[in-house]
Amino acid sequence: MSEPSKPLICLGIEGTAHTVGVGIVDSDGRVLANMRSEYIPGKGGIHPREAAEHHATVAPRLVGDALKTAKLAASDVHVVSFSMGPGLGPCLRVVATAARALSSLLGKPLVGVNHCLAHIEIGRRVMNVADPLTLYVSGGNTIVAAFDCGRYRVFGETLDIAVGNMLDAFGRDAGIPHPGGPKIEKLASMGKKFISLPYTVKGMDLSFSGLLTATSAILKSGKYSIEDVCYSLQEVAFSMLAEVTERALAHTEKVEVLLTGGVAANKRLQQMISIISNEHGASFYVVPMEYAGDNGAMIAWTGLMQFRAGRTIRVEESNVRPKWRLDEVDVSWRDCSGGSQ
Ligand code: AMP
Ligand code: MG
Repeated sequence: MSEPSKPLICLGIEGTAHTVGVGIVDSDGRVLANMRSEYIPGKGGIHPREAAEHHATVAPRLVGDALKTAKLAASDVHVVSFSMGPGLGPCLRVVATAARALSSLLGKPLVGVNHCLAHIEIGRRVMNVADPLTLYVSGGNTIVAAFDCGRYRVFGETLDIAVGNMLDAFGRDAGIPHPGGPKIEKLASMGKKFISLPYTVKGMDLSFSGLLTATSAILKSGKYSIEDVCYSLQEVAFSMLAEVTERALAHTEKVEVLLTGGVAANKRLQQMISIISNEHGASFYVVPMEYAGDNGAMIAWTGLMQFRAGRTIRVEESNVRPKWRLDEVDVSWRDCSGGSQ
C-alpha cells in the first residue's frame, strides 16, 4: 500500500508597513504558525526606514519562532513566499531580502504575493466563504473588490489616504496614542450629537483627506466634545464605506460579504455593513483579527496557492512592487464560476 502523500508546507513573510509577520501553513489549509511584531510609529506616523529597521531586527527571530511553533525544521518547508507589494519600499525590500535568502539557503521555490490579494484569500479560507464581495479596510488600504473571471476587480477604493490611516492621523492630532482606531471607537460610543462633516464619495471611489482636515479643525475649535467629534467622524467615514459597498453588492449580486483589514474590528462599521448585507440577502462575515490585520499566514496561504498554480519566481524577477494593484494579479487558481478551493 502506498503512503498517503504529506501536505506541502509554505512559509510566508509579511512586511508591507508597520507589521512584520511570519506564517506557516500546509496544503490541507491548516495554519501551523502565525507570529508577528509591530513597529509603533512616533508622532509623525510611520517612518518607512525605522519600520524597515524594526523588521530587519526581528524577522530572523520570527522565522525561528514560527518553525518552533509549527514543530518543523527549516528543511520541511517546501515553498517560501513574501509580500512583494503594495507597501512601503524600505519595508518591502527587507522582507524580500529575507525571503530570497531563505529560499536560496533551503533551495526551495520563491513566490511573490500581492498583500491585498492575501487579505482576501486568507479571509475566504478562515471564514469558509466561496466568492464574497470584500471590503478591505486597513491602515494602508481601502478597497471594495470581488472576483470576476480570472481577477479581483476593484469596484471602489480610496483616492487618497486609507480609512485606518485617517483615523490614526486624526488620533495623533487629538493626542490619542497609536493606533487611534480602537480609542476613537470607544470615544464615539459615548458621543451623542452629530456634527456635519465632509462626506466625499466620487462615483464609486472615496476620499478621506478632506474629512481628516475638517475633523481635526473642528476638534481644535473647542466647540464640541471629543466624544461627539469621534462619533460624527465614524458615522460619516463608515457611511461612505457602506454606500460604496452596497452599490458594489447591488451590481455584483454576490451572496456573501467579507469585511477584513484592521478597521474591520470596529463594531459600528460591522453593524453598518451587516445591515446592507442583510438588505441584499447576502451573508455577512467578519474576519477574526488574527487574520484581518497584517499577518504572515495570509502570505503563506496565498503563496501556497500560487505555487500550486505554477507561479514561482526567480530571484532576479523578485523586485518589490510598492504600487502593485490587486486587479493586476492573475488569479488562475480560481475558476470563472467563482469556485476554487
Ligand atoms: P492593518 O493595517 O490591517 O494592520 O490595521 C491597522 C489599522 O486598523 C489601524 O489604522 C488601526 O487604527 C485600525 N483599527 C484597529 N482597530 C480598530 C477599531 N476598533 N476601529 C477602527 N479602526 C481600528
Ligand atoms: Mg493590510
